[in-house]
Amino acid sequence: MLPPGDFGLVVRALAFAAAKHRDQRRKDPAASPYINHPIALADVLVNEAGITDPEVIAAALLHDTIEDTKTTSAELEAAFGERVRRIVEEVTDDKDLPKEERKRRQIEHAHALSPAARLVKLADKITNLRDVANDPPHSWSLDRRREYFEWAKRVIDGLRGANPALEAIFDRAYAAKP
Ligand code: NDP
Ligand code: ZN
Repeated sequence: MLPPGDFGLVVRALAFAAAKHRDQRRKDPAASPYINHPIALADVLVNEAGITDPEVIAAALLHDTIEDTKTTSAELEAAFGERVRRIVEEVTDDKDLPKEERKRRQIEHAHALSPAARLVKLADKITNLRDVANDPPHSWSLDRRREYFEWAKRVIDGLRGANPALEAIFDRAYAAKP
């Protein structure tokens, strides 16, 4: 059982992310609420991989706030502390770069991620592979879905050794490659 303070951090992160992503939708045909995605990461980490570090779960809930909303690093640090802020920064792409370059950098930088950031990155790729397999954007061709799987695997192959249980969950998600 988590101490009450740790529940507090996680629930505050959930409320913060829900407010920040409130007007955003995922790319699936039903345009699901964006917050379903950070919740899916937390679900994988806690309920599938047994990870209970509250700062890792909070960072997972917050992982797309800097990249996809107007949230700043300073705001995250003030509300959730230095470690959560740093984990989120580590999994945030530089939006000034072109898409192709961002994708290349994720592969190149995977080996330099901290242990906590590796867990969040793994959960993000697991949930996105499941979405691409089961509920992809309607405009995506089969080739594009397959390319996404291959790219995600190249990112994850660069950070293996972080958590064998989570890596096995990733491999099972990858096995559903269309
Ligand atoms: P992505 O290809 O990166 O889109 C996927 C991202 O969208 C995911 O990583 C996820 O990111 C988010 N997402 C939201 N909803 C879903 C969902 N239901 N299923 C899967 N992912 C979802 O970015 P873009 O769409 O901007 O495309 C740009 C890239 O795609 C370029 O690299 C380009 O080369 C390539 N491309 C390939 C084509 C092809 O036919 N092969 C055609 C056109 C572009 P998060 O977790 O951060 O939200
Ligand atoms: Zn994400």
